[in-house]
Amino acid sequence: MSDTEKTSNFIRHIIEADLAAGKYAARAWSGKPGPAAQQKLGAGDTAKIRTRFPPEPNGYLHFGHAKSICLNFGLARDYDGACHLRFDDTNPEKEEQEYADSIIDAVRWLGFDWHFGAENNLYHASDYFPWMLAFAEKLIDAGHAYVDSQTPEEMRARRGTLTEAGKDSPFRTRTAAENRELFARMKAGEFADGTHVLRAKINMASSNINLRDPTIYRIRHATHHNTGDTWCIYPMYTFAHPIEDALENITHSICTLEFEDQRPFYDWLLTRLAELGCVNTPLPQQIEFSRLNLSYVVLSKRKLIQLVEEKHVSGWDDPRLPTLVGARRRGYTPEGFRHFAEMIGVSKSDSWIDFSVFEECQRQHLNDIAPRRIAVLDPVKLIIDNYPDKQEEMCEAPNHPQKPEWGKRPIPFSKELWIEREDFMETPIKGYFRLFPGNTVRLRYGFVIKCIGCDKDASGKITAVHCEYLPDSKSGTPGSDTYKVKGNIHWVSAAHAYAAEVRLYDRLFAVEAPGADGGDFISDLNQNSRITVKAQLEPTLKNAAAEERFQFERHGYFIADHVDSTSGTPIFNRIVTLKESWHGTAKK
Ligand code: ATP
Ligand code: MG
Repeated sequence: MSDTEKTSNFIRHIIEADLAAGKYAARAWSGKPGPAAQQKLGAGDTAKIRTRFPPEPNGYLHFGHAKSICLNFGLARDYDGACHLRFDDTNPEKEEQEYADSIIDAVRWLGFDWHFGAENNLYHASDYFPWMLAFAEKLIDAGHAYVDSQTPEEMRARRGTLTEAGKDSPFRTRTAAENRELFARMKAGEFADGTHVLRAKINMASSNINLRDPTIYRIRHATHHNTGDTWCIYPMYTFAHPIEDALENITHSICTLEFEDQRPFYDWLLTRLAELGCVNTPLPQQIEFSRLNLSYVVLSKRKLIQLVEEKHVSGWDDPRLPTLVGARRRGYTPEGFRHFAEMIGVSKSDSWIDFSVFEECQRQHLNDIAPRRIAVLDPVKLIIDNYPDKQEEMCEAPNHPQKPEWGKRPIPFSKELWIEREDFMETPIKGYFRLFPGNTVRLRYGFVIKCIGCDKDASGKITAVHCEYLPDSKSGTPGSDTYKVKGNIHWVSAAHAYAAEVRLYDRLFAVEAPGADGGDFISDLNQNSRITVKAQLEPTLKNAAAEERFQFERHGYFIADHVDSTSGTPIFNRIVTLKESWHGTAKK
């Protein structure tokens, strides 16, 4: 499936039905977020739909966020709409600029953009605090909100349970004037944290606990990264989020399933605010989908922090981490991510996606874009006894077997080569077709050779393999294909190759559901998730640019690491093997 072929899903059905019904067609838009009075002066919104990706800038984005990014930005792209990047920074204390920067990079890296025509739809929810305050005051005036001065324990005790209705707060009957005065004093900083809250006045007997007069503002004497010490009252997420959507003219507010129970409050709040003339209409609608769960991966922020802090990985951008900074370093492609997101689609039911599905999406794209190169990862010398000592010649190898237009590259051939240690066996096992004394194989893009024997050191370790070549067997020369051999091995010329560090990355966890057996997820780490080898690479790889990707023939896909490589000597990271080869690794 290409990036442009779309699988339909329930969210697309909702959007298509809304578009067909012209639900949002007459909606005005002033060109920037704002309340109803401002929007109503604007022209018609030229964005057919508006979605948003609203991360809290309190950590690095992971694969789950990538699903949400691809979904929201992808829908906007497909339906001539806009997708806003909104930093949901209404919670003081936690946010950091470093995270905000990395979120911007990640969205761009995945290939998306928050601009729509002349609009730059990058927003900070904290910029909306004055509107949120004004709306809260309107709710108070209309009798839809009150200041509650119960202790948190008293509030909890009166909230009721799933089977039992809650009880009204003794402060529920305060007049609008009393509430306005108290709320103003909360805002002025007269009260300590936790002494008063502003609550929506809905129904303490509602069967949905989220409608039992939820708190909408609380006192927090904290410094906010954007607004500093301007505020000491902060809106609750459940109050702030619907308002942010409405101020931005969002049409489809897509979130994960755990917010399903909040939807009645989302609708209640926006309906009241529309009645009071605060927010533009038609109102945004919340739509929930199931979050991404990937086998062999942990996506919980808490667990990711633990992996980094306890140094089980080298940092947030460790190529084994499911962060997007890690994924980029690992060499995964944005196209592969988008393809994956499209393929797994969206649904209402929680499910696990096997990590191999993700890897296969990556392979498909990598196969298409990665030039072929030769690397010997576990080198042993091959000496061609009958090849003249000082002689060298060129062989030719295609840059991509299915893309002749990519041309060929020369690879030098000489008397001493590096081959993979596993391509020789002194005593072959059954079915082994590669080098063993007396056997004949083809050196890929080179000559057919016959193995003669090997040299060993005192410990019995093989130090060199000896062979003789057949001078008229060179690949591409007339008659060379008359030689029929079963084995075909890769090689690099020892005098021309360059030695480099190659990092063989594998899954970070050895089990499908880390920590699921009740144990510590740390004990499920794959001890072989990173193996570093000194490889011998074909000379052209020395010029690889940072983040350039290749297929190392017979081994897999690799990328020149852009962090640790030093100029002129790239370090390569294995992105993924050529075929699904996972068979689990023993724990510990
Ligand atoms: P986590 O707690 O897993 O780190 P989060 O929900 O706290 O994630 P936010 O910054 O609030 O992180 O998330 C931004 C957006 O990404 C939200 O709309 C959220 O629904 C979405 N998102 C987060 N995790 C996933 C996931 N695993 N699958 C799909 N969407 C996700
Ligand atoms: Mg969150």
